[in-house]
Parts: sequence; structure tokens; C-alpha cells
Amino acid sequence: MAVRLSDRFLEQLRDRIDIEDLIGEYVDLKRAGRLSKGLCPFHNEKTPSFVVYEDTRSFYCFGCGKGGDAITFIRDIENLEYIEAVKFLADRAGLNMPDEEYDDTIIRKKKRMLEMNKEAARFFHEYMKSQKGSAGLNYWLGRGLTPKTITHFGLGYAPDDWDIFMSHMRSKGYSNQELFEADLARKSQKGSLYPTFRNRVMTPIIDLRGNVVAFGGRVMDDTKPKYINTRDTLIYKKGQNLFALNFAKSSKEDSLILCEGYMDVIALHQAGFTNAVAGQGTALTDEQVRLISHYCSKVYLSYDSDEAGRDALQKALGKLTRTPLAVHPLTYTDAKDPDEVIKKFGPERWKSILSGAMNDIEYKLVSIRDGLDISTDDGRAKYLTKAVPVLAPLSAIEKDIYASRLAEETGVSKDAIMVQVKDAERRIARRASRSDFSGLARDLVKPTVHLKAYRAEETIIATLMKSPDFLKKIETELTPDDFISEGYRHIYAVFAERTGSGQSIELDFISSELSGEEISNLVKLKNGELLVSNTLDEVRDCIKILKEEKKKQNLGNAASLSDEEYLKLFKRGDS
Ligand SMILES: [Zn+2]
Repeated sequence: MAVRLSDRFLEQLRDRIDIEDLIGEYVDLKRAGRLSKGLCPFHNEKTPSFVVYEDTRSFYCFGCGKGGDAITFIRDIENLEYIEAVKFLADRAGLNMPDEEYDDTIIRKKKRMLEMNKEAARFFHEYMKSQKGSAGLNYWLGRGLTPKTITHFGLGYAPDDWDIFMSHMRSKGYSNQELFEADLARKSQKGSLYPTFRNRVMTPIIDLRGNVVAFGGRVMDDTKPKYINTRDTLIYKKGQNLFALNFAKSSKEDSLILCEGYMDVIALHQAGFTNAVAGQGTALTDEQVRLISHYCSKVYLSYDSDEAGRDALQKALGKLTRTPLAVHPLTYTDAKDPDEVIKKFGPERWKSILSGAMNDIEYKLVSIRDGLDISTDDGRAKYLTKAVPVLAPLSAIEKDIYASRLAEETGVSKDAIMVQVKDAERRIARRASRSDFSGLARDLVKPTVHLKAYRAEETIIATLMKSPDFLKKIETELTPDDFISEGYRHIYAVFAERTGSGQSIELDFISSELSGEEISNLVKLKNGELLVSNTLDEVRDCIKILKEEKKKQNLGNAASLSDEEYLKLFKRGDS
């Protein structure tokens, strides 16, 4: 969708946004000279590599390479379309969106889909309370939920019928096509439309703003599939929400309890643990990790004790231990899930499970020890061999603590354990530096882009950003087709087109026309990652390099070079 907002409006908007304030609402920023640093909200990290540049009103992450302006930031962090991000910022800045200047089809479509979902949730809830829907209500009551909890979560029941729901929604003015797009109806092979949810108890998924964005429908017996969940739609992407976070975010606890299923969460909330949330039938995503880190500093992991649950737990641990969150996997015996713990033993038992929870390192060590007989030499050796790599990445203090514990447990001296840990640490460091090297080599051997030419392109773009008036002077010498890498070719085309029509090429005005990667590259250049002399002469030298490279490519030389020959070329051209 082409969006053209006037430069005048975007300039007004830019002037009213303090990018440090804005990003500071999502990231804990520390000032360091002309920039601020914090933990990147777009990838998991423990040391800050995310930088906000107040003077160029941009951000860049040296860990994952994401960068951009305020609009890009909001677009990515709030998962919005470009125009929605602009509107979000305009609302925040108290600016009115310019009328008729932009295409708001998407905004209207999303709004209508949210209204449609709300109507559907209302229908499922009312139907459940009617005589015909008593099977649904009885199911929820049978699971031990009180009427208050049922209302609180807006639970419902989808009729065991092919038409009631559809005709209700149509009577409210929603077309078949709209129901289909919201995944409230699906198409049969013959192309006829049927309701997605039939004879299922319904749990609405509500986002942080209180909108119903999706549904989970569960059977009441052993029919398969047990769950049907809303597929991805315009307003819902699987893995981007956490069920019940809309309630949990106002809990007084500085922790969240991450469960596997909706029912666990609902049962925990009813028992007073209102900080319980759940994913939606997927492995924990980066997006969900970001949400969790945003709302608390500690997370309890409550996964089923079966194999699938243990697997999911391992994956979640892998992701979470790369964040500053304190991670506590929960283990319990005599019950299979939190719902059962509370039913069988009451909330007090759950409370003691929380307070006695191991941290992730203790959990890993216990899991390793499981099944080994550490009263034998062989068992002790196996235990320590597997435990040492767990300790290697820890801080000095943590290493000391756990090495002491292992020494006590096994009777092996702490010094001997520490020697092994240090050894493992060195091995990990060596492996990391090796893989860095091969990554670099891979980057160099891009068969279509000559490094020297690539540098020339970067220099041209970086210089034009500093001195946009150069563009008029070189536009007859350099066309987009002279560029070798696609990204810079496109950026230059945008620059040239805008300059031609007398518009600004500042990032704030052109970000709607660029891809995320292109924006990140521009921000990197803009913030001086590349030293340019900022002269017309240098630009002209670079143009020459590009033209020569192009000639070589056209002659077919470049394309026939092997990777190794390319590497050699880079070395010669670059040293
Ligand atoms: Zn990052």
C-alpha cells in the first residue's frame, strides 16, 4: 500500500517526538555521551548493544542490526503497519492526522474485525448462558470454575450447529467474506462457508488494549482435534500475544507464571494467582519473551511433566536464560498440572511450590543428576562431566557457588571442578571466535557484490545523506542502474525521485518507502559508522568504481569467479 504523507506533516510529527523519551517507555536507557544505551527489545541479550542517537533521532542495535527512526521503532515494537505507527505517534503527540491524505483502508478493516470478534465473543457467551448452550456452561462449571470466573474471562460455547452463528453474524451486518477473513468461518473443499467453531467451549484471546483478537475452542470430550485456534489474521499473529496478560499486567507481583494451557491460567487466576499467563500452543517466541521481560523481572515456568512438556521447557529455558530475567522452572509431584495441584491440594500448596522453586541452573543440575547413581565413581564422573558446561558461562560468583555445591554433593574437590570449568570456558570462547570468523568469510563471499563496490555504494549514500544537494550535481552521472547491490540501488532510486520532485530525503520522510533492512542500513551510515570525507570528489571516485565493476560484471568476468577467487579479489582490492 503506497502511503504518501506530506513532508510538512511528518516534520511536525518529528519535531514533537523526543525519540529518547519514546524508546525509554519500552527500553531502560542509560545515557552515555551523545547517545543512550539499553538492552535491545528486538533480540535477547544480557549486555546492552542497543543505541539511541538523540541528534540523528534514530536507533541502532549492534547485536541484531535493527535500526530506524521513531516510526520504524513503533512499527516493529507494536506490530503496526506504517500508517498505524504514524497515527500512534500522532495521537501521542496530540497531532491530528491530515485528512484524505492517506489511505486508511487497513485501519478501518482492522477496526471492523475487532468489532466482529467482540460480537462473536458476546454471542458465544450469551449462547452458553441460554438453555440450548447449557452443555457449555456445565462443562466450565464441571471444571471447577465459578460463574464469576466464567464472566471475567468471557468464556462461552459455540453451538453444535452449522447455521445459528453464521446467521447471527450476518444479521449484525457482517458478510461471509468478512467472517472468512477473521477466521470465524472457513471454506469447505467445495467452497461453501461453515463456522470454524462448532460444539466447542470458547476462550477469547484478549490483547493488552482489551480487544478480542482471537479464540481458542476446545472439545468437551475426546474428539480430535482437541483445540482449534484462530489462524493468523489481520489482527492476530500466533506467538505474539500471551493469554491473560491483559489481566496479569496489573497484578502486584514482579513475576509471571508461564503455563502451557488456558485452563491452567484460568484456574490459577481463580485461586488468586493473577500473574499467570500462557502461550498459544506454540513454542515460546522471541516476541513473547520480550513481553515477559517488559512486565516483570522473574518468570516461573509451569510446563506439564510429560515428554512434550519437558521438551517445551528446555526450549523456553534456552531462550529465557539469554535475558536478564530470573527463571524458575516449577516441578511438582502428585499432580500433572497447576489446575490439578489446586484442585487436589489447594492454593497453599501452589504458593509453597512457587516459594520453593529452583532457579534455572539448579534445575539443569537436578535434571542432569536424574537417573545417575552418584554414590558410584562412574555416576559422579558422568554427573560432573555434564555439569561443568552448565557452569562455564556463569558469572564468577555463580561459578563459585555452584562449584562449592557440586563439591559437597560429590566429594570431589572444588579446585578440581573449577579447573574443569575454566577449561570448558576456554573451549566455548575458542568455538565462538571460530564461528565469528567463518561468518565474516561468508559475508565476504557474496557472489554478486564486490566488496570494494559495496563500500563505494555505502560512501555515496552516506555522503548524500550528509549533503543532499550533491545529488543534483551527480544525477546525470549516476543512475540507480549503476548500483550493484539491490538495497542501495533502491535507496538511491528513492533519493533521486524525491530530489527530482523537490522533496526531502531525510530518513523521517522516506521510511515508508524502504524495507526494514534498508532503513537499518541507512541509520548505520547516518550515525557515522562509515567515515566519509563528504566531498563531491570522493563521490565521483566512488561512481568510477561502480562503473568499472559494472563493466566487469557485464563482461561476465565477475560471474564466473569461484568463491575463493572472490576472496582473493577482496583481499587485493581492500588492503
Ligand atoms: Zn538487537
